[in-house]
Amino acid sequence: MKNKPVIILGAGITGLSAAWYLEKNGFTDIIILDESPFAGGKISTIHEDGFLVEKGPDSFVITKPYAVDLIHDLGLDDQLIYPKTNRFFILKDGNLVNPPKGLNMMVPTDLQAFLESKFFSWHAKHKILQESTAKPRFSNEDESFADFIIRRFGNEMLDLYAGPLFTGIYATPANELSMNAAFPQFRKMAQQYGSITRAVKKQPQPAPAASSRSSFAGLKNGMQTLSDALIKQLKHTKIILDSKVNMLGMSPNENNTNNYQIKTESGVTYNTENVIVTLPSNKAKLILNQIAPVASDILGSFSTSSSRIVTLAYKTDHITEPLLATGYVSAEREKNHVSSATWLSSKWDGRAPEGHILLRCFMGKNPETLTFTNDELIHAAHKEMSKMLSLTDEPVHYWVQRWDAALPQYKVGHIEKVESLKNAIDPFKGLFVTGSYLNGVGLPDCINQGLQAADFVSSDR
Ligand SMILES: Cc1cc2nc3c(=O)[nH]c(=O)nc-3n(C[C@H](O)[C@H](O)[C@H](O)COP(=O)(O)OP(=O)(O)OC[C@H]3O[C@@H](n4cnc5c(N)ncnc54)[C@H](O)[C@@H]3O)c2cc1C
Repeated sequence: MKNKPVIILGAGITGLSAAWYLEKNGFTDIIILDESPFAGGKISTIHEDGFLVEKGPDSFVITKPYAVDLIHDLGLDDQLIYPKTNRFFILKDGNLVNPPKGLNMMVPTDLQAFLESKFFSWHAKHKILQESTAKPRFSNEDESFADFIIRRFGNEMLDLYAGPLFTGIYATPANELSMNAAFPQFRKMAQQYGSITRAVKKQPQPAPAASSRSSFAGLKNGMQTLSDALIKQLKHTKIILDSKVNMLGMSPNENNTNNYQIKTESGVTYNTENVIVTLPSNKAKLILNQIAPVASDILGSFSTSSSRIVTLAYKTDHITEPLLATGYVSAEREKNHVSSATWLSSKWDGRAPEGHILLRCFMGKNPETLTFTNDELIHAAHKEMSKMLSLTDEPVHYWVQRWDAALPQYKVGHIEKVESLKNAIDPFKGLFVTGSYLNGVGLPDCINQGLQAADFVSSDR
């Protein structure tokens, strides 16, 4: 029955995508409830004095099709932009250094450049090259990203390159990050070819033009263009904001379905047979506590991490070196407050007005930083950027975002936990629980999870 009413909790990208795909499947009676005064969840773009600053996500991978497909569906193809360069630095012993040319994942594809580079020690180079002789391991048992990388490529590869480059979006320490959940592709390569090196070498080599293309894209007018377009183009969905859901109740129906009662803080009750919960895990835990205590306990066991983002604008005259890269990530051992920075005005067109540069500093890996006030964050970020980039004056503009418990962590055993949550929810006909803490943190994964939720409701399960 395509016109059955559906209520979605949460108007982030997962909830909005679920509504979009439900409408595509013919649904005409959809309500989204969100506690915030704005829809879009973590997506939020500031336009101020000619600067474009993202509070949350600023780009997405295009190797997974879901974001690009949705952008196409929404008629936003002309908004897609790509980084102006792929070059990035690693902060190592306080200095910005280039990683060896030709590293594909962890695998040196330009042997001469790899051997000539001083980035890795000779001992580390030897270990990295030996990975080609690794024996296949067929076990599916989960392990940490750190264990996987150290066993195959050694400590230096983890500390200087793989850790800083690949673990960022999961906001999980490398020695706790689940290999099976976060990097199933590496796992598969290791099982199929024995060695990642052999797997990479077996892959068809991209044409030179393709290999210089980024696997990320952004949106010209910022990421909020995507959520705004969804909100505008949803025709059969009512988005009710400032509507915090406190509780989900349930009573069985005579026709073998469940009647869910959704209660909001302001005292409104909604009744429906179909609910899609897209709230962050710690919020979903609270509202499911009454009807599904087992699921609620599992939801409570997903951990999150916090971060701070400081975006700084400077006059171009106050920087002595041109910024010819997308930014840098820090080696694991670095103890600075800014763990990575994106040089927004070098990475994307249209982020800063003429004569200015814009830097986005990610902070919080060092736990002390999370306790800083906004002024302390700005001061610490400016101090580190000044030293690193030889800046000669103060920032002319700054923005601070404090993200508490906002990034889901995918720890070893994650997939089993997701499976047990699914088993705990399965008996509840008409209830679907999803979000970035389950099957992928990035925007394309969230959009896909919205799509899966819509398909679930459409299939009448
Ligand atoms: C700082 C930061 C940078 C990021 N950068 C990137 C990036 O560059 N690329 C990328 O792909 N991904 C990035 N991500 C990840 C990505 O932004 C998120 O995974 C994604 O936006 C999550 O969407 P969601 O809809 O699942 O959750 P959310 O966006 O969190 O939406 C959940 C919604 O539920 C609402 N809500 C919560 N509790 C209640 C309640 N009780 N009642 C009603 N409503 C409630 C909230 O108000 C919110 O609107 C980043 C995330 C962060 C925090």
